[in-house]
Amino acid sequence: MPYEQLRQLQSEKLVKQVKHVYKNVPYYRDLMQKKGVTPEDIRGVDDLYKLPFLSKADLRDTYPYGMLAVPLSECVRIQSTSGTTGKRVIAYYTQHDIDLWEECCARAIVAAGGSKEDIVQVCYGYGLFTGGSGLHGGSHKVGSLTLPMSSGNTERQIQFMMDLKSTILCCTPSYAAYLGESLKERGYKPTDNHLKAGIFGAEPWTEEMRRDIEKSLGIKAYDIYGLTETSGPGVAFECEYQCGMHINEDHFLAEIIDPDTGEVLPEGSRGELVFTSLDKEAFPLLRYRTRDITVLTREKCACGRTHVRMKKPMGRSDDMLIIRGVNVFPSQIETVLIQEGYAPNYRIEVDRANNSDTLDVYVELAPEQFSDTVSGITTRERALAGAIKTMLGINPVVHLVPPKTIERSEGKAVRVVDKRKLHD
Ligand code: ADP
Ligand code: ZN
Repeated sequence: MPYEQLRQLQSEKLVKQVKHVYKNVPYYRDLMQKKGVTPEDIRGVDDLYKLPFLSKADLRDTYPYGMLAVPLSECVRIQSTSGTTGKRVIAYYTQHDIDLWEECCARAIVAAGGSKEDIVQVCYGYGLFTGGSGLHGGSHKVGSLTLPMSSGNTERQIQFMMDLKSTILCCTPSYAAYLGESLKERGYKPTDNHLKAGIFGAEPWTEEMRRDIEKSLGIKAYDIYGLTETSGPGVAFECEYQCGMHINEDHFLAEIIDPDTGEVLPEGSRGELVFTSLDKEAFPLLRYRTRDITVLTREKCACGRTHVRMKKPMGRSDDMLIIRGVNVFPSQIETVLIQEGYAPNYRIEVDRANNSDTLDVYVELAPEQFSDTVSGITTRERALAGAIKTMLGINPVVHLVPPKTIERSEGKAVRVVDKRKLHD
């Protein structure tokens, strides 16, 4: 849809949605009244900035049903966040909301080359987590043959992948990397499977990790983004040009703000992503602060889609570590590890000793690297520490550890242990 037409559509939907929320969600009505805004003040997308923000704290305050905008009897499903950063948040859906969400996931599958000819192996977790049911519903909508594997049981994942000839794999990137590693251990070559594409998301991953996964599985790896608060995965997805994720803007209005001041930033600026859901009935969040840090661009995409693209989020504002005064994202360390020839199996430990922050990076060696002599390993540790210092500007202590000693993740990987919090 041409941009002008899209904006017109968004404006019409926004006006309706604000009225719906004002009428049915007393909590948000109060916030609007405190800000002195009425639904009549919102005549289109240009007025969006007048509305108050919502944050995860608001969702915790109104837990469980304080954001409900329709009678509970109209709802057909509840899902919940994975609780990566604290108490779980729940989301509720009408049948219309489920259809809308599955439509978004279906678009992601089609963008990755999926059709009714495909066999889609879904190994995101099923249950309260949105990953499994989202991609499952999307795959049904496309008409693909859906394998509802859920996460875990790697042996069975591999057996079904091979026997049933799965063509599209859906899971977290950390689990995709683990599957690649497990296939290799069992003597499979990347060309032995029938996979052509993977749709990986739910956690940050780097371009380096993408190349690794593409090589080990012999596929093209597509990024997919979403959060429970906006439905689940599928809010944004990559097309075949892999140059940022197209946001499903006909359903979700995106803004970038300065996380400190709340000021809306112009296109191309790096900041916090904020979403307004234009069509959701049961849980229609307006100006929801995701805490994910990214950049939006409207530059023309070669695929022909006109929807705005978001860069891979580097991580959430609350994933960012401040070590000796320097801002550090775990993804920066991951980039260096892969560039230096290590697999993305690592753990970052931050602590405090003698009033100074310490940074320890535990990195797993591959079996062929492990045969090195002790002095060989010390040399490698120093070299890697040097490369991380160049990237971050601070000195880490690198520990190369034996193969298989860092726990693998079937869902979202936990990479950071911040022990400083224990001393606070
Ligand atoms: P939780 O906040 O408990 O992890 P969710 O399961 O709803 O809850 O996860 C949503 C979050 O996951 C997003 O806000 C974002 O931080 C992260 N995320 C999801 N997809 C991606 C992706 N493709 N790249 C980076 N981060 C992602
Ligand atoms: Zn595109």
